[in-house]
Amino acid sequence: MKDYLIRGLAFNDEVRFFAAKTTELVEEIRKRHDAYPTAIAAVGRTATASAMLGAMQKSGDIVDVRLAGDGPLGKILATADEEGNIRAYASNMQIHIPSNDKGKLDVRGVVGTQGELVVIKDLGLAEKYTTTSPIVSGEIAEDFTYYFAKSEQVPSAVSLGVLVETDNSVIAAGGFIVQVLPFASEETITKLENVIANIKPVSTLIHEGKTLEDIAKILFGEDFRILKSNEIRFSCSCSKEKYADALITLGKEELADMATEENIETVCSFCSEKYVFSQDEIKELIEKL
Ligand SMILES: [Zn+2]
Repeated sequence: MKDYLIRGLAFNDEVRFFAAKTTELVEEIRKRHDAYPTAIAAVGRTATASAMLGAMQKSGDIVDVRLAGDGPLGKILATADEEGNIRAYASNMQIHIPSNDKGKLDVRGVVGTQGELVVIKDLGLAEKYTTTSPIVSGEIAEDFTYYFAKSEQVPSAVSLGVLVETDNSVIAAGGFIVQVLPFASEETITKLENVIANIKPVSTLIHEGKTLEDIAKILFGEDFRILKSNEIRFSCSCSKEKYADALITLGKEELADMATEENIETVCSFCSEKYVFSQDEIKELIEKL
């Protein structure tokens, strides 16, 4: 089953929800960065939340997420859009720390408990909206819950999960966000709190083979409708042309210096793709200036 994302309304249309299966996306990130289990759990959770944040935007808009904690993982960066293109990485993905006292991957331990979650909505036409909220947990789902409550004034339940196999591969990843709409009744809120408190971890459900529609059914019974369902994927917007443009900004002298040395190798932080510029190619760039 390919990765996908659904969005819809439930409980008499008093709540809206997003759910995403991101197993392939997170495994792709792990492979590209040779990430260790706790690191990919943290980055995978952030990528999954970002995929759903992307789905909340208008077509063509991009959302950038930066989770900067004081843990050894460093900054997590993710980008997502409404079409389901997602990329993510962290500064140090080859870190390993012992499991937490529950025997689980210690995501908080690598993310840290101090820092900030920054969400930048790029609406094109040089219009950007930046909101910052503090890290309150380091487990990531709680940090997004806090972000929605404080920055967007939307009470939300956020669940994110990444299951890593003993060979370090990602075997299940996904999440859901359920948001209470302003006119929701007390009864609906109570009903929702009960199901959220009792649902299994979302990575377990996906590992059991449950579809997103099954998960919606567990959450809302028959009282939901899906408004849209679409595929999502790892996708990086980098290209050799973009790196060439970046090299040009260094200026004629700097480029001329580089052209006397060996080939220039650039590496995209997001996807680890390498772009090599030969001395001839550098000379061509200089001629363009
Ligand atoms: Zn890239």
